Amino acid sequence: MADTQTDRPRGGSFLVQPGTPEATFTPEDFTEEQRMIAQTTREFLETEVLPQLERIEAKDFEVTVDLMHKAGELGLLSVSIPEQYGGLELDQACGMLVSEHLAKCGSFAVSHGGHTGIGSLPIVYFGTDEQKQHYLPRLATGELLAAYALTEAGSGSDALAAKATAVLDGDSWVLNGEKMWITNAAFADVFITFAKVDGEHFSCFIIEKSDPGVSTGKEEQKMGIEGSSTRTLILQDTRIPKSRLLGEIGKGHKIAFNILNIGRFKLGAGAMGAARACLDDSVRYASERHQFGKPIAAFGAIQQMIADMAIKIWVGESMVYRTAGLIDNALAQIDKSDPQAVLKGIEEYAVECSIIKVSGSEYLDQVVDHGVQIYGGYGYSKEYPVERYYRDSRINRIFEGTNEINRMLIPGMLIKRAQKGTLPLLAAAKRIQDEILEPPSFEDEETGVLAVEGKLVEGFKKLALLVSGVAVQKFLMTLQEQQEVLLGLADIVQDVYAAESAWLRAKKLVATKGEEAAHLQILATQVFVHDTADRIEVLARNTLAAAAEGDELRTMLAAARRFTKRLPVNPVQPRRALAQAQIEAGKYCLS
Ligand SMILES: Cc1cc2nc3c(=O)[nH]c(=O)nc-3n(C[C@H](O)[C@H](O)[C@H](O)COP(=O)(O)OP(=O)(O)OC[C@H]3O[C@@H](n4cnc5c(N)ncnc54)[C@H](O)[C@@H]3O)c2cc1C
Repeated sequence: MADTQTDRPRGGSFLVQPGTPEATFTPEDFTEEQRMIAQTTREFLETEVLPQLERIEAKDFEVTVDLMHKAGELGLLSVSIPEQYGGLELDQACGMLVSEHLAKCGSFAVSHGGHTGIGSLPIVYFGTDEQKQHYLPRLATGELLAAYALTEAGSGSDALAAKATAVLDGDSWVLNGEKMWITNAAFADVFITFAKVDGEHFSCFIIEKSDPGVSTGKEEQKMGIEGSSTRTLILQDTRIPKSRLLGEIGKGHKIAFNILNIGRFKLGAGAMGAARACLDDSVRYASERHQFGKPIAAFGAIQQMIADMAIKIWVGESMVYRTAGLIDNALAQIDKSDPQAVLKGIEEYAVECSIIKVSGSEYLDQVVDHGVQIYGGYGYSKEYPVERYYRDSRINRIFEGTNEINRMLIPGMLIKRAQKGTLPLLAAAKRIQDEILEPPSFEDEETGVLAVEGKLVEGFKKLALLVSGVAVQKFLMTLQEQQEVLLGLADIVQDVYAAESAWLRAKKLVATKGEEAAHLQILATQVFVHDTADRIEVLARNTLAAAAEGDELRTMLAAARRFTKRLPVNPVQPRRALAQAQIEAGKYCLS
């Protein structure tokens, strides 16, 4: 379903309308500017960041600060800052590429993201002109470094339950409270901080390190991203000028939650960058390590892992790039000088951003797990990089909204849009319920490149609509309380977006480069879509069984089987071909 004014696909509409390969953004569409920013980031990482890895991981924050300044000189801190305030004002795809190419060093990537994303964007989107003029040019260069202080010991996912307070006293705000888990706290000059005015109205403030009563706690001893700074931020009768309120009193939630959409999208992009680094190292190691007189890369068991890693990256990237294209297309039709319009444009794709966050972080966890396994005992040693990848990966399922919270948001947002009438999900679900009562039609077997998989993706969408419709009808207003059902729905919807994104990207590649050139990408897509059919069938069965029973359930289950009916593909040969291609290339080679 397209927005009638702009003719662009609405967020979440992938469930009710087919995507078109030619309209799907893929790496082949990168502009010169996007390629340049990717290359600059890659070079910065290789020549400046990685040589300092040991000192970064040892929490030598002078190194991190110095690197941030260097990143500032290269423009890598100002991609999303308007030109008017000293930034480069580039598109979201550029921001995505910076996150993707920094991700090989998880610690520095998190410090960078804490500054450029959650630390700076609240001022970009909600600051007054004076606030922007005062802070943004220096945030763009790294002269000032930023942090974002939302979480407290007692309020994490339930961020609005914060206890920090702000009271207006003459021309000043006086803040008290303690924030927890604050990235960049050791060296940040500016803290975007949330507190309740008069203990009631959740609001946002700009706190400076030099303000009275500001201090930070000791460094948290973390499982991963050890070289990033994480501390408490303590505000004790912190008196700041009245002008440091960011946005409006009582509207802090708008800042807190809107900024997270962009963070989630970039987290997914970063996860794919980190996954690529892990695969590259694992493939090289598998070729060098010999056991039983052969490189371990020659064993089917290792090849299976390499193939699964490559497939996950191919699919994850496809979702990230597709979404970057959707957001940038939407923003291209918006007055960029109106930050609220820009935010609204991004918020349109909040469902896709949550999907990318959840899938990206979980694909990465699966990839790094395989990475450690391929390295065997050496994977468990700090001497080898996969040990760090493994530890660094885990945080991604926790911050920027835990994966449970994001999973809950996915069906929640879709249903809300359906009820508001901006997404015709209910009518589409009704059509599917009617369709399953008809006798099945016997169609000719699909032929052509990825035709079977295209049909399966169509079936997945029908299944998603069927299951959502049944759940909504069964639980009505109490669906929010059925978290297990919501989680099932979220996983089905994610799988639809993942499978279709990979399919669209592969089809576009076939159309532009030919079937032979796209051979590996076709295989990766086939394997993923067929695996998805298995997974989605189980998810649908369980979710339906939680919402229906007896004959109704039997009818639904028969329909579920109809929508995922297929002849299985050979699970071995395509994976071997995919693995061998990565091994020959010595790295991930599907992009
Ligand atoms: C390394 C690191 C860096 C961080 N950086 C920052 C930062 O810069 N700024 C900042 O403000 N915060 C930051 N955080 C905090 C982070 O955002 C929170 O940890 C996260 O939001 C989860 O909150 P919590 O830890 O209190 O967990 P909780 O909210 O207590 O969650 C615990 C478990 O319960 C689940 N859960 C909670 N509520 C529900 C629900 N309604 N339904 C179902 N399940 C639920 C969660 O999914 C999770 O599995 C950081 C955290 C870490 C570890």
